[in-house]
Amino acid sequence: TPSIVWLRRDLRLADQAAFLAAARKGPVIPVYVLDDEIAQHRRMGAASRWWLHHSLASLAADLQALGSRLILRRGRCHEELAAIRRETGARTVHALHHYEPWWRNAERAVEQQFDLQLHHGNYLAPPGTVTTGSGGLYKIYTPFWRALQQHLPPPTPLAPPARLEAPAYWPASERLEDWKLRPTRPDWSGGLSDTWSPGEEGGRARLAQFVVRAQRYEQRRNLPALPGTAMLSPHLHFGEVSPAQVWHAVADQGGSVDTFLGELGWRDYAQNIILQFPAYGGRNGKAQFDALAWRTGPEAEADLIAWQRGQTGYPIVDAGMRELWHTGWMHNRVRMIVASFLIKHLLIDWRRGEQWFWDTLVDADYAQNSVNWQWSAGSGVDANMFVRIMAPLTQSAKFEAADYIRRWVPELAGLSDAEIHDPVRRPPRYPRPIIAHAEGRARALAAFAAIKGE
Ligand code: FAD
Repeated sequence: TPSIVWLRRDLRLADQAAFLAAARKGPVIPVYVLDDEIAQHRRMGAASRWWLHHSLASLAADLQALGSRLILRRGRCHEELAAIRRETGARTVHALHHYEPWWRNAERAVEQQFDLQLHHGNYLAPPGTVTTGSGGLYKIYTPFWRALQQHLPPPTPLAPPARLEAPAYWPASERLEDWKLRPTRPDWSGGLSDTWSPGEEGGRARLAQFVVRAQRYEQRRNLPALPGTAMLSPHLHFGEVSPAQVWHAVADQGGSVDTFLGELGWRDYAQNIILQFPAYGGRNGKAQFDALAWRTGPEAEADLIAWQRGQTGYPIVDAGMRELWHTGWMHNRVRMIVASFLIKHLLIDWRRGEQWFWDTLVDADYAQNSVNWQWSAGSGVDANMFVRIMAPLTQSAKFEAADYIRRWVPELAGLSDAEIHDPVRRPPRYPRPIIAHAEGRARALAAFAAIKGE
């Protein structure tokens, strides 16, 4: 009898233990189920859906080249898999582990009907295995990273299956086009397709481009004007490249790549937090933050919209928000600046920012997004503090963002490097700062002082 490979965000053939395990047993039925109910309000955002469309198209073509197919179904995961079982007699499901709470729920439902075999391969070390001396899980990154060393390097990446045996009978498949994952009117995805090539081949190409620059990562990674970072996050999120592939490709370069490998470690760390606090995307890690007097009402809503549209009057913030809207991605240093600005200067609940990122990022990831937003807010179980307020203008100058601002805020393109971070003479089309730095800072600190004792 055939086995099912149940794909989620592991859309690759290489270093994919589920495919290899299934292929060893005989015929394989690769299945992707679009289940919009499973995650409830965590339904995939618009930019992620665009990516998913192209990633599935790419995987389907790669499977066809191996004599196989990608079966697409829409509905509840366990019901669709059960229907495929009735159509084909498949009794075993192979899949990679995922730790978002909705995926774990789905696994429990699938387990009721199938021999569900879960394999590792989406993290440097399986989440839950990096433990303290007393067997607990870490809450702080630095000791987590130290303990992770004992699990490194990750296993050598597995080769892709040489062939996949087709089942005697293929179950029905929907057409990807019918899912309408891409925007139509208006079609805002032009900037996304100019920037990205979703799929395993696109991920491999991105990794190859980065490997030759990896030595310079440390000096350049905080400078948004330069192509200093790997831009691998959406490929890693959708599992088109595995962290083990990235690790080995970069570590093989030798030299000073530790800072980069440490960032990959942050990805594992975030997942390790979600494993302990599954509701982290919506619930403050520190309960005292439940009482924080976030601004609400029409003025706060207008400020939120100005932030989303890149119209705050702070060039670095606006450049970042426009880069996000255009490309579905934002440089990490600028993500930290815009998050701090929303939470502190505008005193808007971090969850509103997290939601906007969820909808607009092509790399939107439950663990990485919520851990980083809570880190920015100081509301998390990690070591960061609310009172660390980033000064956007200082950050902009310090990290040499002039050319980055010119690229994304063309109204300011004519200004000199010295002027552009904090323009005195503003072109008529560019707004005045939505709030003065000192005023925003003082308001944020006062709001925090009110909950400090709680
Ligand atoms: P590189 O610097 O080249 O790093 C390589 C890889 O390491 C990344 O692809 C990513 O997988 C991982 N990584 C790097 N930094 C972090 C970090 N701080 N936390 C966790 N993993 C990290 N990343 C996402 O993938 N999805 C998100 O939804 C997301 N939301 C974020 C929200 C905020 C407010 C902030 C401050 C950061 C967020 N990040 C998120 C983390 C980080 O900004 C991106 O992973 C990074 O910018 C991706 O670009 P890169 O691939 O060029 O990164």
